[in-house]
Parts: sequence; structure tokens; C-alpha cells
Amino acid sequence: LVKLRARLSRSQNSLGKGLLTLLSREHLDEDTWEEIEDTLLTADVGVQPTQELVERLRERVKVLGTRTPDELRGLLREELLTLIGTEADRSVHTANGLGPNGEEIPGVVMVVGVNGTGKTTTTGKLARVLVADGKSVVLGAADTFRAAAVDQLQTWGDRVGARTVRGPEEGDPASVAFDSVKEGISEGADVVLIDTAGRLHTKTGLMDELGKVKRVVEKHGPVGEVLLVLDATTGQNGLVQARVFAEVVDITGVVLTKLDGTAKGGIIVAVQRELGVPVKLVGLGEGPDDLAPFEPEAFVDALIG
Ligand code: GDP
Repeated sequence: LVKLRARLSRSQNSLGKGLLTLLSREHLDEDTWEEIEDTLLTADVGVQPTQELVERLRERVKVLGTRTPDELRGLLREELLTLIGTEADRSVHTANGLGPNGEEIPGVVMVVGVNGTGKTTTTGKLARVLVADGKSVVLGAADTFRAAAVDQLQTWGDRVGARTVRGPEEGDPASVAFDSVKEGISEGADVVLIDTAGRLHTKTGLMDELGKVKRVVEKHGPVGEVLLVLDATTGQNGLVQARVFAEVVDITGVVLTKLDGTAKGGIIVAVQRELGVPVKLVGLGEGPDDLAPFEPEAFVDALIG
């Protein structure tokens, strides 16, 4: 929690602090409630969730009558948690799947998202977590259109002790993805992580390509997890991206990166609403240890602690 708090940007922390300060005013008049709304909107919580939260808070503060700072913090904590949701399954599914003949195959995780969001970095960090957990991991460098991405992934692989499967430059991403799972099967690996390309400006191309990658991989067996990587600093733009990707593949979880550099953590709420899929991991920096499971309680406590 201490680390999380330290990593969330000062401005992010000020979101929670700002809300608490506003709430502790002598008179909670119309202006104050509007300021609270603005604060939430600025953090990208989204219009509807903001209104819901403010409405519930207003009601509860009214019922409470007198209010101590502790009571207010308690109310805010509860309402933020209601908004984020504490029931969802936020574990990354890496369990073995079953092949066409009922044989066990590695767990397959596809990592998708627009270039620059932190896809390759996230894939590397996730590999590190899994290897540290005692799992053997194969990386599939299916972002073949960006030679640098392939090298970058290979560097991560070498660093964390995971074999990287790469194809010829500008080769077919689906064929690299296929080969990486094949390699994972023949090595008896536990998990195959596939880094994919994300050139959003060619939407049709992206559709064809991602869909094809998934279909081709599924010849070996099921894809257990499709993680969408979103850059928290892009705010509402991230929601547009999320929509586009959700049209192409069934997203099973979201990774929100660069949460260390923004006050727009409210996008967590907005994107979960948009996709109906939980945020499972958060990126809190560029280093190998800067990937954390998303735990709503710890997150909210870091915000308003
Ligand atoms: P890709 O094109 O989506 O594969 O993006 P990269 O993995 O190459 O990342 C793009 C940049 O974002 C790199 O400079 C990363 O170091 C940086 N980055 C990735 N995740 C995070 C994060 O959680 N926090 C910060 N501050 N930077 C990150």
C-alpha cells in the first residue's frame, strides 16, 4: 500500500485529498457539490458514474447530519468502492487449456492495445511475475510490423528467463502467434504470452489481423485471457480505443498503464462500465517491478489515505 501510494502521482493522490477537503467544509452547499462533481469529472470518472456517486454521497451525508472527518472518509471510501466494484474476478487466467485431442496445453494470454500504450512493457513485466511464481513462460513477438517491438520483447524475455519466439521481419503476426503456442506446447511451458500489433489508424487491418491471430492460436486450444492495455494518461481517448478493440476480440481484462503519471485514474471506473470487463492489472512505472494487481481497496485507500 505504501508503495502504491508513493507510485500514484501526486496529482492522483490529490484527487482523493481534494474530495475529502471539499467534503469537510462547514457547509456543503450547492457550489461545493458542484466542485466535487468537477473534481471527479476531471479525473475521467465519467458523467454518469460521477452523478451516481455524488447523489449517493449527498443522500448519506444528509442522513448522517453531523459528520466527523472519519465518517466522511468512510462514506467516500464506501462509495468509491461501490463505483469501482469489489466483486469482480481480477485474476489473470493462465491455467492450462485443453487441445483438440483433450491434451493439456499452456495457458495462452493475448496482449492487445494501441502502440505506445505499454503493451510490450506489460507483456515483459507479466512474464517476470509469472516466472517469479515458478512458471515457465514463452513469449510470442507477434508485433512483427515494429522491428523494435520484437527486439524489446526479446530483451525482456532474456532478462526474465523466457524464450521469445519471433518470425521474419514484417512476417505474418498470426503465424508467429501460432508458432509461439506450438513452441510452448513442445516445451511443456506453463504459459504463452503473445504481444500483438496495434495500429489503430488502419482499423480494418487491425480487425482482420487480431481476429486472425486469435483464430489461428485457437487451432491449438483456447485463449484463456485477452488483456487490453490502455494508457491512463490518454483519458477519454482510451475509451474510444477500448470500444474499437472490443469489436474485434472479446476482451477479458484491462491493464491500465502509466497510472503513476496522471490524475486521471477515474478512467478505471469509466472503462469497466464501457466494456463490462474488470481492470486486472495496473502499470505504475517503467521498471520490471512496476506492474501490480489491481486491488480496489488498496487503490482507494491510497487515494484518500
Ligand atoms: P507498446 O508500443 O504498446 O508496446 O508500448 P511500450 O511497451 O513500448 O511502452 C511505451 C512507453 O511507455 C515506454 O517508454 C515504456 O517504458 C512506457 N511505459 C509502459 N508502461 C508504463 C507505466 O506503467 N508507467 C510509465 N510511467 N511508463 C510506462
